[in-house]
Amino acid sequence: MITEKLYDMDSHLSDFEATVLKCERNGGNYAIVLDRTAFFPEGGGQRADTGVIGRAAVTDVQLNCGEIVHYADSPVEIGSVCLCSVDRELRFRRMQNHSGEHLVSGIVHNIYGFDNVGFHMGDDVTVDFSGELTDEDVAKVERLANEAVYKNVKITAEYPDEETLKNLDYRSKLELTENVRIVTIEGYDRCACCAPHVSCTGEIGFIKIIEHSRHRGGTRIRILSGLDAYNDSVIKYDNLRKIAVRLCAKQNEAAQVFEGLFNENSRLRQELARAKKEIVRLKNDSLSGDKNVPVFENELSVPELRELALDSAKTREGCCAFFSGGDGRGYTFAVASRTVPLGEVIKRMRSELNARGGGSDELIQGSANTTEAAIRDFFSEVKE
Ligand SMILES: [Zn+2]
Repeated sequence: MITEKLYDMDSHLSDFEATVLKCERNGGNYAIVLDRTAFFPEGGGQRADTGVIGRAAVTDVQLNCGEIVHYADSPVEIGSVCLCSVDRELRFRRMQNHSGEHLVSGIVHNIYGFDNVGFHMGDDVTVDFSGELTDEDVAKVERLANEAVYKNVKITAEYPDEETLKNLDYRSKLELTENVRIVTIEGYDRCACCAPHVSCTGEIGFIKIIEHSRHRGGTRIRILSGLDAYNDSVIKYDNLRKIAVRLCAKQNEAAQVFEGLFNENSRLRQELARAKKEIVRLKNDSLSGDKNVPVFENELSVPELRELALDSAKTREGCCAFFSGGDGRGYTFAVASRTVPLGEVIKRMRSELNARGGGSDELIQGSANTTEAAIRDFFSEVKE
């Protein structure tokens, strides 16, 4: 006996009664077949419904060789009539996302002629189109999709006969000639799809394309619809509100104000780096008569330390050693010299200063997990 697909006739039905035809142990759970079901088995990119059959929790539903099998955590009695319930909120969210995707794909197909060549529905919907959409194209598609929601047009599903199907123009055209389920969004889209959809575009709610990028010669977009779009916008507005308060900017001008601050920050960083280098140079110049005295300065990168060491070695003899960091968190360093072979120095630094790193006789660099006092002691004993 073939299970009657209640979800095909009424996508909003969540509570129903059904007779248990089979219940078999299947690994850690139970495989249940009913005479009728509103549980949608995974298919068409939409995940399986969850819910309960009697007291058994349904965690997965699959179509196996034409049989709809419900996988549940406990058994139900064969022949008994059970009260069943599909997780309504989860299903409705998925229908909103799936119908939203059909609408967007239909609009893209109608205007630009591009096909939907990749579709994934998880926490959001990802769609790959066969051609490139510009920023303006995406904005236009999103506006038209939301307009279709306001018009609240009907969404219907039917199985046309072979003759009708042959002459029908629809997306995802299949080789099959029978049992092809056609989902139509009046005036916008016609597509082969086995999944349940909302009954009219108004039920989809807000449609938001949250990302778009070039992908394999076409365009990949991410869409949120309905409740998921609303929840996402709540998080985004909360973020924007906090940022705008911090920036003392109007919410809709936050990006512009941020851009100004970002540029200012980059300029200040460059100025700070220049000032730091100048301080280190002055420290270095004041040491021109003292050989082997290391120079310490906070927050310098290894390339900056290296540049300072090489510069210093042009005029100073001995080890021109530059360290950045602190006791406890350790130091990074660069040492340059024209008069001391540094190959020997780095070997001793490894054993006496917990140093890692290497280089040549003229330049060494690395890190040392030690203290400033130990570093000063070490270099005071370096011989030429
Ligand atoms: Zn579909």
